[in-house]
Amino acid sequence: MIFRQFFDPVSSTYTYLLASGHGREAVLVDPVKEQAHHYLAAIEALDLKLVKAIDTHTHADHITALGDLRDATGCVTIMGQFTKAECVSTQVREGEVIDVDGLKLKALYTPGHTDESFSFVLNPAAPEGVFTGDVLLIRGSGRTDFQGGDPHKSWDSIVNRLFKLPDDTLVWAGHDYKGWMTSSIGEERRHNPRLAGKTEAEYVDIMRNLNLPNPKLMDIAVPANLACGRN
Ligand code: FE
Repeated sequence: MIFRQFFDPVSSTYTYLLASGHGREAVLVDPVKEQAHHYLAAIEALDLKLVKAIDTHTHADHITALGDLRDATGCVTIMGQFTKAECVSTQVREGEVIDVDGLKLKALYTPGHTDESFSFVLNPAAPEGVFTGDVLLIRGSGRTDFQGGDPHKSWDSIVNRLFKLPDDTLVWAGHDYKGWMTSSIGEERRHNPRLAGKTEAEYVDIMRNLNLPNPKLMDIAVPANLACGRN
């Protein structure tokens, strides 16, 4: 399998490129508009054909590359079924499996960071990893104070859905601000400071008291992303 992790330093966003092998079809998860040329260069270098690009949710801190990638490659653009971005080609339902040349990604509805966030499990028959978007971050979790966010739903998505995956399932988050690149479900269950040993009420209290400023790009990014990154 080909697996590449890209980092956008402005928004601390991780983007993932996946394919079952050289010369095969590929998929991108959470691509950033300003980094699209990097993905396309890697796709060309690895002799891949981009056929799908997925956003886990409507991002508030960067503009999606979905529209630009669709223009450049003709790829199908995908989000979960509750997105308000009607410009995406395909909306996937809970439990639906996306197939990319034999590589399988199963859609899991994991609201909490936003009300339309999905996670995607690689190789659901024997999970290898999960793209968590921003609902579960490494030693953290995505804020729940805008875009239909809800700390109770975040707890439910993480504890009752993502933490039910096998412990050795890798966690591929949508962001990291401290230099962590990858984690695992078991590691987060045991060591995530917001969740390990906490009750739902304690978690909700933590999330309601983060007092984070709004993302700098929010007023630009959200409307642009509802239009697949075309502003
Ligand atoms: Fe987000």
